[in-house]
Amino acid sequence: MLTVALSKGRILDETLPLFAAAGIEPVEDPLASRKLVIDTCRDDVRFLVIRPADVATYVQYGAADAGVVGKDLLMENGGEGLYELLDLAISRCRMVVAEPAELAVGDDPSSWTRLRIATKYPNITRGHFAAKGVQTEIIKLYGSMELAPLVKLSDRIVDLVDTGNTLRANGLTEVEKIADITARFVVNRASMKVRSRALGELVDALKRAVAGTAIPDETARAEGAGSGT
Ligand code: AMP
Repeated sequence: MLTVALSKGRILDETLPLFAAAGIEPVEDPLASRKLVIDTCRDDVRFLVIRPADVATYVQYGAADAGVVGKDLLMENGGEGLYELLDLAISRCRMVVAEPAELAVGDDPSSWTRLRIATKYPNITRGHFAAKGVQTEIIKLYGSMELAPLVKLSDRIVDLVDTGNTLRANGLTEVEKIADITARFVVNRASMKVRSRALGELVDALKRAVAGTAIPDETARAEGAGSGT
């Protein structure tokens, strides 16, 4: 039996069609069910549906053989004990530095020397700015980073941005990109040895599914521009 940990929330909407294209469908709807362990149409595969921040932990400890997790969480927490085998090209977004629009007028990121930043990603933020010689005071938050500059908790934030709507709605502007982010298929190192055949077949099927559904960057950008997003 292969146990695959899936991230709940917005990643799940895009993960399920990929697995379906790879011939693996849950027997009940994980978006509606309260069950945490969900059987699939395949006797040899089951899903765990858990919080994104916990997926890598389940895979690292071998409680799940494999998982789907955002690159943001792998970067923040390190990828110890697991192999990152496949870029699933879903849940695409970017990690950015953002600040109030009025501060952004005339602000030059190359002149930054000391910043006060609110973020859910202290390790990524610290590493990014340390590499550029910028000192940071980091305020760790667990959600709604966009609020912090509005109430002067911090000057800037580091957060994920997809359409940019949340930033705009809160009067914030993206001033620097830290990384492009997508969801990754990760595998426990020991499982990779013990279940190499089953995992190899699953990875191949997912690769074909990704190739079949991936929108080339150029097309995605043109569509984004066309819809005004
Ligand atoms: P948007 O308004 O589309 O730019 O989305 C921004 C909000 O959604 C922020 O609160 C982000 O933290 C969150 N977000 C955007 N993309 C992702 C993603 N791929 N995974 C998790 N959270 C995301």
